[in-house]
Amino acid sequence: MTNSDISAVFDHVADLLEYQGGNVFRVRAYRNAARTISVMVESLASVRSDSYRKLTDIDGIGVDLAGKIETLLDTGRLPLLDDLEAKIPAVVFKLMRVPGLGPKKVKALVDELQVDSLDALEQACREGRVRDVKGFGEKTQAAILENIGFAKSPEHDRLLWEEADAIVQQLLAWMRECPAVRQAEGAGSWRRGRETVGDIDILVDSDKATAVMDHLQAWKECGDLLLRGDTKTSVRGPRGVQIDLRVVEQDSFGSAWQYFTGSKDHNVRLRSRARDRQLTINEYGVFRLVPGADADSKPVKGAAVAGRTEQDVYRAVGLPWIPPEIREGGDEIGLADRDELPTLVTIEDIRGDLHMHTTATDGEATLGEMVRAAIERGLSYIAITDHGQRVTMAHGLDAKRLQQQWGEIDRLNDSLAEEGRSPIVVLKGIEVDILEKGGLDLPDAVLEQADWVVASLHYGQNQPRERITKRIVEAIENPCVSVIGHPTGRLINRRPAYEVDMEAVIEAAAKAGTFLEINANPWRLDLNVPHAAAAKKAGVKLVISTDAHSTRGFDVLRCGVLQARRAGLEKEDIANTRSLDQLKKLIKRGNL
Ligand SMILES: [Zn+2]
Ligand SMILES: [Zn+2]
Repeated sequence: MTNSDISAVFDHVADLLEYQGGNVFRVRAYRNAARTISVMVESLASVRSDSYRKLTDIDGIGVDLAGKIETLLDTGRLPLLDDLEAKIPAVVFKLMRVPGLGPKKVKALVDELQVDSLDALEQACREGRVRDVKGFGEKTQAAILENIGFAKSPEHDRLLWEEADAIVQQLLAWMRECPAVRQAEGAGSWRRGRETVGDIDILVDSDKATAVMDHLQAWKECGDLLLRGDTKTSVRGPRGVQIDLRVVEQDSFGSAWQYFTGSKDHNVRLRSRARDRQLTINEYGVFRLVPGADADSKPVKGAAVAGRTEQDVYRAVGLPWIPPEIREGGDEIGLADRDELPTLVTIEDIRGDLHMHTTATDGEATLGEMVRAAIERGLSYIAITDHGQRVTMAHGLDAKRLQQQWGEIDRLNDSLAEEGRSPIVVLKGIEVDILEKGGLDLPDAVLEQADWVVASLHYGQNQPRERITKRIVEAIENPCVSVIGHPTGRLINRRPAYEVDMEAVIEAAAKAGTFLEINANPWRLDLNVPHAAAAKKAGVKLVISTDAHSTRGFDVLRCGVLQARRAGLEKEDIANTRSLDQLKKLIKRGNL
């Protein structure tokens, strides 16, 4: 079994345990293990066979999960999953993908209406049978009908960028081992850093296409062959994703890389710019157009003027190189033409992380473990922001427990300072809940003592647009609130954003000086790109936060940075690129 097979098994177990109403922490342990494994570059089999290491060395893999991995590697099956599958109908898995349908509702639908597919559910809604089930009603039925398309859409089956990235990195490492390969690079939507990736495009520079394509087929993760031509091969890769490999000559590598990176809209505009300059541009290079044989015929392709590098290709049409993340056919060519391309924020620019959880609520690591991990990652400040009391499921903090945690943070900062030059400052924070009826779940008198307050909306997500907008705008206007966490609540592939007037939210944030978050969790990436760009335009500062629930949770920072880059954001636009002193000046309360 490959890592992705094992990851899929654990994900499935998590779904089924969740359906059974299993322990939240147990569900999360499987879910997190699935994610860790899906983005691991090394195979679990090789970790296991290495006599110097153990599976339990992997972050988040305890003795129990390590045993299950060994069983899977040995037998290809997991008795726990077989048990669960014997008890739970297969359709449950699909129904739980409908936004708004939790385990309890799914169980009711299966028990009462014998719903056995998404189509059957849709039909039951249309026939008005769902509203009569206990706990449902007209409104819920309408919501299911509206959301069922989301679960059925193949668009929501695409890999998250982070998952695609794990595959691309392994594949490139493998391809670069082939002696016939001069260069190997990824292209397409992966390279543009899109939230999700459909197919994976790989480009190789080589004179020996046959050897290169054979090498791809020899990859241990390579599935079915879909197509094989002279210079192009398509295969199924891990998790069923289609991988397209193209082999090109050295002189065309840059133009092919540019061409297959896309986007289509960007390339259309680039081609038209080339034509204005009597040039033509394609995956083989940039060519001069020369007059046809007679006066009436179209111009024909003449000598190549560029193709070896992407820089050459852009230079040939009078442009500087454009970062892939903004090649979406917006105004990037105009900006490049006027020499006004943004200097996009980089991961090295980020100095602190201002949203994370510990074992005090639903995190997996203690305060001390989170701080050590943050120091290892070179962060110079972090804010501990466990949940407020409303999030009972996560054992949210009331004022008393919060004060205790802050006392602990004070002592920790003191002891770090005693060790000499303190490597990190830990801020006393909280993720307060924006309540269903409005207001926050902790009193201002408590929040005033915090260094940093994230306000987020976790409940009442089905309320009408005006209600939700009002709740968020009020939180923005509260002088204690530093930032709004995951402002639209969407989960990519799983749940659309709640109804909210983002224009009003951005306007209120600009006026109050409250920051908006770009939550870097690959399922969230919230704000999305258009909203983040609009926030910048309105003068709102953004904060890129990991919302880490474990020490490896810090690793998603790069996903948030990519999102910010795609929105055209610069270092200046992101509050946590500042030093702590500068950040304090930027926070609206300034009482840090
Ligand atoms: Zn949250
Ligand atoms: Zn959080």
